[in-house]
Amino acid sequence: MTGSPFERLRERLAEVSDLTKAATLLLWDQRVMMPPGGAGARAEALATVSRLAQERFIDDEVGRLLEELRGLEESSDYDSFEASLVRTTRREYEKAQRVPPELVGEMRRASALGLAAWGPAKESSDFEQLRPHLEGQLELRHRYIACFSPPEETYDVLLDDYEPLMKTAEVRVVFDELKQELVPLIEEVGGAGEIDDSFLNGDFEPATQRELGIEIARAFGYTDDEWRLDETGHPFMTSPGAGDIRLTSNFRPNDLSSLFATMHEFGHGVYEWGVDRKLARTPLGSGVSLAVHESQSRSWENLVGRSRPFWRWFYPRLQEAFSGQLGSVDEEAFYRAVNKVQPSLIRIDADEVTYNMHIILRFELEQDLIGDRIEVAGLPDAWNARMEEYLGVQVPDAAHGVLQDMHWAGGALGYFPTYALGNVISVQIWERALDDLGDLDERFESGDFSDLRDWLREHLYSLGAKFTPQETIERVTGSRIDAKPYLRYLREKLAPQVA
Ligand code: ZN
Repeated sequence: MTGSPFERLRERLAEVSDLTKAATLLLWDQRVMMPPGGAGARAEALATVSRLAQERFIDDEVGRLLEELRGLEESSDYDSFEASLVRTTRREYEKAQRVPPELVGEMRRASALGLAAWGPAKESSDFEQLRPHLEGQLELRHRYIACFSPPEETYDVLLDDYEPLMKTAEVRVVFDELKQELVPLIEEVGGAGEIDDSFLNGDFEPATQRELGIEIARAFGYTDDEWRLDETGHPFMTSPGAGDIRLTSNFRPNDLSSLFATMHEFGHGVYEWGVDRKLARTPLGSGVSLAVHESQSRSWENLVGRSRPFWRWFYPRLQEAFSGQLGSVDEEAFYRAVNKVQPSLIRIDADEVTYNMHIILRFELEQDLIGDRIEVAGLPDAWNARMEEYLGVQVPDAAHGVLQDMHWAGGALGYFPTYALGNVISVQIWERALDDLGDLDERFESGDFSDLRDWLREHLYSLGAKFTPQETIERVTGSRIDAKPYLRYLREKLAPQVA
């Protein structure tokens, strides 16, 4: 072995990162390109690559290097690349070492098979088809949790995989504040409903939607040499390596939701794109947590993409492209329609306000499942009852209820809360950006989003995962996670609809 311990650690971490990125690419391919028949073989390939990455990472050599590097860590500045890399790697190493590679491989395989089963189950609205997979996932999660010393709450272990170091109790505090304010607010607007959004349903040529989506993304910062946009049923973003940002969107012929999905995924993409390239191929080389990630997708989708100045810029172009459908709809009517608040069944189509209740419902059900307070078989009923309680809507079938999302089928329990936390964080960061940049309306009205993007890159994206999520939020906003700015934003936005 040559090189300093630090260089040797970097080499090892680069290998682990390469294997992880290979798995990322296998997953992207599964969801975008692969014919369904490949699901079985792909599950094996993913299990193997994930197990190899895990083995390389938890190897004793990594532990020895981390020990040797204690001196370097202590003598280096906390913010330095060296100290950040050793500190973050140690935390991840100590966690990963507790989980046997066989279990990691098994979870990956079950995840791939569960995801493959989810599509057909949803298609036929048959919960029974998915039930054995969900039971298997739950069983695996219990084995996973048992790898760690007993946490304060069982759910803490699951949450930590998506929102490192955050505790269930902290999430509950934020969500209770949201719930307390939003449930009565939703009831109030539920009766209103005088905003006409009927023109948002109609004939919208998918190819044109794709073109417009790319046009918007280009104005935000999408370039052909580092980005792609493909079509999937369930939009997502992934990055198989620095300088390779892959967005997906779904171009449905009867509505314009793809435009918002594309802006949403752009927000995820631009965060990854903006990470300091010096951090690539290390554990620091991507966004710090799912909640902070979601704060960015939500910022570009909602704070930018549903704002008046944005549509002052883009509505003429949209109207021209869909003149048959929107020719007689003025900008104000369109703006009000895309901001309409109305309880509905499907999370990904929900407005900014009711969206949070979809998440809180899932957060509560996940805790009930992992805490054995409800059985998988009882999930559809529990789901339907809470939809009625929180949103006042009746669920007609499983496809429009418990089967609508793929997360649980893939074993991702603990993931959902990050969506609503992201909403909360998005407005905290937004307020700081406006403090520095001043009013952005005129710049948005002329299609110029570069100041916002550059500010976010400088203050947030470039940091990657050098600091913990909480440290990152505090560095950017000056405060801990706080629901108040977000609630203030929602109240202001809703004022015309409840008045
Ligand atoms: Zn997202």
